[in-house]
Amino acid sequence: MIVEERMLTFINSLDAGNPDYLNELEKYALDTYVPIIRKDMQAYLKFLLRSHRPKKILEVGTAVGFSALLMSEYAPEAQITTIENYEKRIPIARENFVKYGKSDRIKLIEGDAMEVLPTLTDTYDFIFMDAAKGQYINYLPEIMRLLSVGGLLVSDNVLQDGDIIESKYAVVRRDRTIHTRMRDYLYELKHMEGLTTAILPVGDGVTVSVKEA
Ligand code: SAH
Ligand code: MG
Repeated sequence: MIVEERMLTFINSLDAGNPDYLNELEKYALDTYVPIIRKDMQAYLKFLLRSHRPKKILEVGTAVGFSALLMSEYAPEAQITTIENYEKRIPIARENFVKYGKSDRIKLIEGDAMEVLPTLTDTYDFIFMDAAKGQYINYLPEIMRLLSVGGLLVSDNVLQDGDIIESKYAVVRRDRTIHTRMRDYLYELKHMEGLTTAILPVGDGVTVSVKEA
């Protein structure tokens, strides 16, 4: 929890909610421990999509398709490409895209993002990074190539439930590599030429970056 629980409860209590099919899928994901975007992050994403009106969205980390479906709901003009490498989740996501009538608008590419990203030739005006946190920094050169000028890069789970502010030695050993890489990623986003980034305590921490001309 990055912000006080009561504050988050208050913020979420004001939310008007999503269509039923998204609630149904959200419940399924939570019941089966699939780590999907949180309520406050959903609201922020929805705002970004409504204001930015992307036409081509790239998502890294499909899971069972919740965020892809949410994006297609709130960016109705967008074509979405989403990448997932976990073979147990791929058929579930595919099934959900068919079930909710979105398989013509959402294209799922199976494979490791590190291998898939270099094969993509389109540019995207909205990229949602939501896969293995320790890999974000490695994806960045390819992401910069794929992001159009004026396009947004949104990265989820960047504050590691608050662990990011602790010393590397205060976080449990298995999270230390991710901790270091995430700090490097945040530094890169904030200092890279041609990119303007805000780091926000939304959800599990999010960055929003715009690529300049
Ligand atoms: N965006 C989804 C949640 C994604 S959870 C939602 O909010 O609904 C993160 C997903 O990234 C997991 O399903 C995981 O299998 C996938 N992932 C992790 N590393 C990956 C990689 N290297 N390539 C592709 N997908 C990856
Ligand atoms: Mg996430």
